[in-house]
Amino acid sequence: MSNPSLLILPGDGIGPEVMAEVRKIIDWFGAKRDLVFDVSEDLVGGAAYDAHGTPLHDDTMAKAQEVDAVLLGAVGGPKYDVLDFSVKPERGLLRLRKEMDLFANLRPAQCFDALADFSSLKTEVVSGLDIMIVRELTSGVYFGEPRGIFEEGNERVGINTQRYTESEIERVARASFELAMKRDKKLCSMEKANVMESGILWREVVTRVGADYPEVELSHMYADAGAMQLTRWPKQFDVIVTDNLFGDLLSDLAAMLTGSLGMLPSASLGAPMANGRPKAMYEPVHGSAPDIAGQGKANPIACILSFAMALRYSFDQGDEATRLEKAIEAVLADGYRTADLLGEEGRDPVSTSAMGDAIVAALDASL
Ligand code: NAD
Repeated sequence: MSNPSLLILPGDGIGPEVMAEVRKIIDWFGAKRDLVFDVSEDLVGGAAYDAHGTPLHDDTMAKAQEVDAVLLGAVGGPKYDVLDFSVKPERGLLRLRKEMDLFANLRPAQCFDALADFSSLKTEVVSGLDIMIVRELTSGVYFGEPRGIFEEGNERVGINTQRYTESEIERVARASFELAMKRDKKLCSMEKANVMESGILWREVVTRVGADYPEVELSHMYADAGAMQLTRWPKQFDVIVTDNLFGDLLSDLAAMLTGSLGMLPSASLGAPMANGRPKAMYEPVHGSAPDIAGQGKANPIACILSFAMALRYSFDQGDEATRLEKAIEAVLADGYRTADLLGEEGRDPVSTSAMGDAIVAALDASL
């Protein structure tokens, strides 16, 4: 059988720096766990624009459709701000998401004990936190028609349309139930069925899909109440599923419960391919961080945790994903901190590559 394939798109700014650390981890799994990936690398974002005049070359898009998973760093930077909208670095990312039809965006909010003090919430509220927000990514108000700014009488009106078909709700609901089955078997669906028809349909369809998953405890919550509950007592949740707009807000809120942007991974999943694996792209939540790019200051953990998600959700290597997460936990417990994890502390931070090396050493120690 051939090795699983991985397309790496480091992108711009700190993207290549954090991805270099992921490469060390990938090499470690090949050498020490006999888990060998066929890795190819290509350009995306500003780097692709510089080389090809487009933020995503058609050949790269075709490769992304063929591989088992895509791992992306970050795109963008001030140098590209002047470009026409159609060739901005972010368009490369959006094209990947759209053409791969990645409809389920998984955003974990997990608190490493060593960083519990770093949260803006009380330690007891966040320590041990491990929840997953599933955001519908390819429909809803960001895509619905009609949209635009129109003349109406003597003034203009801005219009966006919240629109969901039953099948769009059903597929993201099903992905969320499947996820809940692999976790604590609890799913909370969030919408605004009290004021939006799309919310009424959302609730109806999620409830119907839930009949296929009797083991999963399903609850419903209005999204505004959900935001309150997430800050009050987030540990009441396991998996949350919500639409594109509410998911945008709630996943950022949940993510920040746990501290730095440099710690946050994500996965975007689509329909299963012929080999049964879902179409998938994994990427850190952060951007290209131009303010620290090229200085060895970036925290590579968000990108490394994104690879851990790839191990779990694309390659059925949940135990190895846990091994990697535990190695990161051990390194943090030993006091290793990149600058973003130090706040006001006067300690010297470790560099991007020193953090990667420490995680590799912790992986060695796990054997
Ligand atoms: P950003 O996430 O790049 O940076 C925000 C702040 O967080 C900065 O101070 C940065 O130094 C810090 N930060 C981010 N990641 C870090 C890490 N791994 N380690 C340590 N510190 C980290 O967001 P921004 O400044 O708003 O955007 C910069 C560029 O990135 C823009 O061009 C934007 O369009 C792009 N962007 C890309 C993505 C993506 O590729 N998915 C996401 C967001 C923003």
